[in-house]
Amino acid sequence: MKNISILGATGSIGTQTLDVIRQSNGEIKLFGITANSSVDKMKEIIEEFNPKYVGMMDESCSEVIKNYCIEKNKNIEVFSGIDGLIKIATLDEIDTVVTSVVGMIGLKPTMAAIEAKKDIALANKETLVVAGELVMNKAKEMGVKILPVDSEHSAIFQSLSGYKNKDINKIILTASGGPFRGKNIDDLKEVTVKEALKHPKWNMGQKISIDSATLMNKGLEVIEAHFLFDTSYDNIEVVVHPQSIIHSMVEYKDASVIAQLGSPDMRLPIQYALNYPERKGMIAQPINFYEISQLTFEKPDMDTFKCLKLAYKAGKIGGLAPTVLNGANEEAVALLLEEKIKFLQIAEIIEECMKVFEKQYSNELTLENIINLDKSVREYIRSKWELGVNN
Ligand code: NAD
Ligand code: MG
Repeated sequence: MKNISILGATGSIGTQTLDVIRQSNGEIKLFGITANSSVDKMKEIIEEFNPKYVGMMDESCSEVIKNYCIEKNKNIEVFSGIDGLIKIATLDEIDTVVTSVVGMIGLKPTMAAIEAKKDIALANKETLVVAGELVMNKAKEMGVKILPVDSEHSAIFQSLSGYKNKDINKIILTASGGPFRGKNIDDLKEVTVKEALKHPKWNMGQKISIDSATLMNKGLEVIEAHFLFDTSYDNIEVVVHPQSIIHSMVEYKDASVIAQLGSPDMRLPIQYALNYPERKGMIAQPINFYEISQLTFEKPDMDTFKCLKLAYKAGKIGGLAPTVLNGANEEAVALLLEEKIKFLQIAEIIEECMKVFEKQYSNELTLENIINLDKSVREYIRSKWELGVNN
């Protein structure tokens, strides 16, 4: 039996986690759920899963859910704001939290969950990017597990099973290449938000879809891998593998490579994280090897997709540099989705912020400094690009 909460239950990962629960024959029980403002989806989840606790980030949405629960005679406690997320992440009844909110907003609730000795099934990579050292140290101190949900990191985690860190040569992160694979800077000048959102292999939330188009997603994943597996950046390599069948690999010191393969279905790594170390029944379509004509591999083009290069740079600098990289990316992606900037400006904005905030990289790595610096970066970006004047 596993008792869980889901932070971000209405999103792409959240919804697929609900499906894993549906297929768990009652072995996974849902106690708490949160969302930002998706009231209708939340009502549907409440009807089907009857959780004991609900958190809505948006105050007015939490009122709507409260009234709904009264009207439907449901004995559910409803919370709001970041304190609501923290409450749902630290419930006495649960042993594991699925962190599937998008963005570094997940940082405080994740840290609170670890302090409350909850295992973390981690999808929310931004939290590990900005505070990897704090999160991993706290997890060690509290004796809790950080189980990766991100498909690449789940693959690495599985490929590492039974081996020691000293036996690893390098981690090979696979990347689909996103919707703009093979394009050059000129091709990318006029691409639309709609084109950027159209991922060839995965159906995901908007922010991570844009990150996949810029290759920032892979950049964030490099930093995520660095912290999760305690591996230096020089030993983390990105390989473009458009078929998304090999989810990542580990090369050992004898040059043997161990990989994990599977159809591109996030329910697989979610189910694995929620049942680790056990494996449960088949939730994804098995691979039909007769139907795969080829598996191909390419070097990523870091000159065109500069975000990946910037992520390596920020990761190697360390300290608060990844906070600037991540905050600038979150805000630039938001501006792109609002159609206030163009696709290529995302990398330009991040690069500029990395220069402007350089002096703060070496400030002490504390939760407070991370949150304040993230805020400053976002304010800087909004003050300059909000009106689209620099387009
Ligand atoms: P999504 O946009 O589909 O869902 C995000 C969820 O977070 C929603 O439930 C939303 O209500 C909630 N949320 C959004 N903003 C919030 C805020 N400010 N405060 C509180 N709650 C908020 O996103 P997603 O694609 O499910 O991704 C979630 C996380 O998982 C991201 O960190 C992403 O990088 C990671 N991830 C996603 C996938 C995927 O296939 N979707 C794969 C690997 C990793
Ligand atoms: Mg991934």
